[in-house]
Amino acid sequence: MSIVGFKCARAARRHDRQKFVSFKDCIACAETTANECHFTAPIIKAMVDREEEEREGITVTQLSGCLRESYLRYKYDHYADLEQLYFAFRGELAHLIIERYQERDAIAEQRFYREYNGIKISGKPDIILPDKKLVRDYKTAKEVPRFSYPYRNHSQQLNLYAWLVPYEINRLQVIYLDMKGVKICDATLWGKSEIEALLNEKLPVLDAAFNHGVVPPADFDNWQCNGWCNVKSICRKLYEEELLSKLNAG
Ligand code: SF4
Repeated sequence: MSIVGFKCARAARRHDRQKFVSFKDCIACAETTANECHFTAPIIKAMVDREEEEREGITVTQLSGCLRESYLRYKYDHYADLEQLYFAFRGELAHLIIERYQERDAIAEQRFYREYNGIKISGKPDIILPDKKLVRDYKTAKEVPRFSYPYRNHSQQLNLYAWLVPYEINRLQVIYLDMKGVKICDATLWGKSEIEALLNEKLPVLDAAFNHGVVPPADFDNWQCNGWCNVKSICRKLYEEELLSKLNAG
């Protein structure tokens, strides 16, 4: 990972959002207990730990999001928005509790690996219940979906997990949690051809990026573009350069 620190989240001084601090300085500031933002040192430490987890190969999460974001996050040192990371951290909190009270035979938070066309892929589903042939993923949300099926990127992620794990899987569920309640949404299980079509489309793009530095194309329709991308400024700058070079070439 290439997150090297945070954008300062001092609530009292919004212009300080452009002030960048290292992990160490951010934690030290919170440890004084005189920090002006609302993050405590243990919360920040947990977010740093989560970001520093070692991952080998291309991950299911990278494949399920904006491919350009996956690559730019890895390639460029950048400062993350604490409030954005907190959203992911909140999900982790739910995972910790859920893992603790899991069914006896559940496989929780284990990383699996599989190769496709010589490219290694890894992923860590929240819960597998092998006897029930079921994979479950827990997602925290502002509001649980009004419909009964998961968001498209979550369905895609679950189907990649089903393909990845060495168990027979025939059911996929996303469990959405918000402040008011819980909702289980069943995802449609894809066939082999759909999974392979997805891998054939996305894997070579990420492989070329990670191994040969070919930047994936911008995908501005992606949900991450709507306020959830920590490399937006790097992406926009590269995009301008790409447009310029196209203009010059044409
Ligand atoms: S700004 Fe949008 S297109 Fe660019 S990397 Fe981020 S999510 Fe992807």
